[in-house]
Amino acid sequence: MMRQFDAIIIGAGQAGPSLAGRLTEAGMKVALIERHLVGGTCVNTGCMPTKALVASAYAAHLARRHGDFGVTIGGDIGVDMKAVAARAGQVTLTARGNNERWLEGMAGLDFIRGHARFTGPDRIAVNGEELRAPRIFLNVGGRASVPDMPGVNDIAFLTNTGIVALDDLPRHLVVVGGSYIGLEFAQMYRRFGAEVTVVEMGPRLVGREDEDISAAVRGIVEAEGIAVRTNAKCIAFRKLDDGGVAVGVDCEEGAPEVVGSHVLLAVGRRPNTDDLGLDVAGVATDARGYIQVDDRLQTSVPGVFALGDCNGRGAFTHTAYNDFEIVAANLLDGEDRRLSQRIPGYALYIDPPLGRVGMSEAEARKAGRNVWVSTRPMTRVGRAVEKGETQGFMKIVADADTQRILGAAILGTGGDEAIHGILDMMNADQLVSALRWAVPIHPTVSELIPTVLLGLKS
Ligand SMILES: Cc1cc2nc3c(=O)[nH]c(=O)nc-3n(C[C@H](O)[C@H](O)[C@H](O)COP(=O)(O)OP(=O)(O)OC[C@H]3O[C@@H](n4cnc5c(N)ncnc54)[C@H](O)[C@@H]3O)c2cc1C
Repeated sequence: MMRQFDAIIIGAGQAGPSLAGRLTEAGMKVALIERHLVGGTCVNTGCMPTKALVASAYAAHLARRHGDFGVTIGGDIGVDMKAVAARAGQVTLTARGNNERWLEGMAGLDFIRGHARFTGPDRIAVNGEELRAPRIFLNVGGRASVPDMPGVNDIAFLTNTGIVALDDLPRHLVVVGGSYIGLEFAQMYRRFGAEVTVVEMGPRLVGREDEDISAAVRGIVEAEGIAVRTNAKCIAFRKLDDGGVAVGVDCEEGAPEVVGSHVLLAVGRRPNTDDLGLDVAGVATDARGYIQVDDRLQTSVPGVFALGDCNGRGAFTHTAYNDFEIVAANLLDGEDRRLSQRIPGYALYIDPPLGRVGMSEAEARKAGRNVWVSTRPMTRVGRAVEKGETQGFMKIVADADTQRILGAAILGTGGDEAIHGILDMMNADQLVSALRWAVPIHPTVSELIPTVLLGLKS
């Protein structure tokens, strides 16, 4: 017998549960299907455990710097990896438990544990049963991609899933991939006490950012003793008799091989769309498997929507959640919200963090804008000086013709928070002169935003 619903949601990640909440509140009969852990990547193997680990790493770093602040500590600074892992694990467990209780108690929802697969454009098979609904929402997320590098199948590599579960210290962690995810793990493990090497195929770290950001990020991680090997063209792996791994990097300079005890692959993500029966339903994907959606998140099949990482239009928790907001507003609130209205923002959680919004300077120039730029080093930000954390800089990029901000980067202490001053200005569509008479609080990083804006020039 086929069960009929008003809506079926696949995946209890960052969009599915909230959407289930809105749809059931509106009186719909909804099925939500999850095959693994409620909360998805962010709660279980992404944002939450990693930011908890980053907090432990920061505490270790600050403890080692105690003398800089006039603080005395008796004995050596140690890191108890079992306690560090238990703390991060508890953060995840609490969040997952809260999410599970929410879903299990949601009136109007059938919360089903199992793997969902299309059997037709309006029907799904799960646990040997078929469900049918006029609306199907895909929130299936993604996983770490494992590149086809020589020797990769001969070694025991880690991805984000394995490394957040580690509770001992690698002797030497080799991080393959010098971008957002790789750098967070590289710095935290260095601070926990491991030797760390970052191997990056491209010529610089965080290659999507402006060159000045890449250079500053490299300076920050190298200052902590992390080895960085860029231009690693032919990465290959070889298992060693002592259990270690030799990583062939073939860089233009330096030793051709790095020998580590553990390897973390952080070379990108791929969508969980290969085992969903999308072809049976006629849902189109791009060459990399991302589900193609229109500006309102509908797929090539009317009534089927894709939200979150699986649509390739965002790779963050806040973009997945915003996808839910767009779909719910259009379906239930009579609004016309669109993806293209979203101003992209994100952060890189090394310490100090990089807060980013909108275009980079390079993107703005490439787009042919009449670019204005203003920068300020964190050495000239009072709050940073007082905290003894003066690495990095602030940068705002604006369009001289429209008098509007195009993008910004704050690489520095509190940068992940302070960037919101600019993100909010962009969302409110304000002129660069809008903060001229604002009176920000002293001493903060944000207080320098009006000053940097006043310094904009071509
Ligand atoms: C190490 C790391 C750190 C990160 N840090 C941050 C950060 O600081 N800030 C940030 O904004 N983002 C961060 N991210 C990204 C963030 O985790 C993702 O963008 C976010 O989780 C995407 O949510 P989602 O709902 O699209 O998918 P997911 O959270 O991946 O959820 C998808 C769910 O669908 C389920 N599923 C898949 N296929 C099926 C099926 N066929 N049947 C049933 N269920 C299925 C999965 O089991 C999963 O639970 C990080 C990611 C990683 C890997």
